[in-house]
Amino acid sequence: MKRQVAVIGLGRFGYWVAETLVKEGCEVLAIDTDPEKIQAISDLATFAVQCDATDERALKAVSVQNVDVAVVSIGENIEASILIVQTLKEMGIKQVIAKGVTAQHGKILKNLGVSEVIFPERDAAIRLARRLVSPNVLEYLELAPGFSVEELTVPDHMSGLRLCEAKIQEAYNVNLIGIRKKVTRMVKGRMTTDEVFNVTPSLDDVIEKGDILVLVGKQEDLQRLTKSE
Ligand code: ATP
Repeated sequence: MKRQVAVIGLGRFGYWVAETLVKEGCEVLAIDTDPEKIQAISDLATFAVQCDATDERALKAVSVQNVDVAVVSIGENIEASILIVQTLKEMGIKQVIAKGVTAQHGKILKNLGVSEVIFPERDAAIRLARRLVSPNVLEYLELAPGFSVEELTVPDHMSGLRLCEAKIQEAYNVNLIGIRKKVTRMVKGRMTTDEVFNVTPSLDDVIEKGDILVLVGKQEDLQRLTKSE
């Protein structure tokens, strides 16, 4: 059965979430007070409903309680965001994910029992800044305060080494989750390049220039590794 997701608040963030979910094959119930926002998403979403989501009866009328996940993407009206999250939790929706604007807003949402608070602007800003100071960091995801997963290009001094020689874990106290490699081969007489993700690297695997290492660990240890020459 298709995963059913309600997206409440169709600003830029909510719209992108809804669009991507539809592309990924989910059923999306899109809700907004603004008729133009509903009009704009009506061809895309499975159901698009104009209503005030602070109104519990309106939410029940569109069976929001039956969705698997609800995403609340309202930033400007913090009061509405809190009221909606509270109502959704009272309706028994297990997974509610909400956009936070300030740390205090995020804290209240957490106290109401949301599974996850997203700070899109903050997270995008941190990711950009991390990439600017460490150009070999391609992706960055904070897992818990102080810990993250990073994708980084192989530092020059490790290029050509076997994993047992690179001593990533011993020297930097971080764990290698996998290695992404570009592999070029001949298919039906034509050279094609594919990306292969090796999630079970062995100590004899060689890391080469152009490979991408996916690592998890403390941010300070990851930074030592990204800055190492
Ligand atoms: P962006 O993602 O564009 O940065 P934002 O967080 O600033 O958005 P807001 O301006 O807060 O977005 O509003 C997001 C959407 O939520 C708007 O389209 C707005 O009409 C809708 N919205 C606000 N209050 C309610 C409500 N009570 N019920 C349903 N939709 C609402």
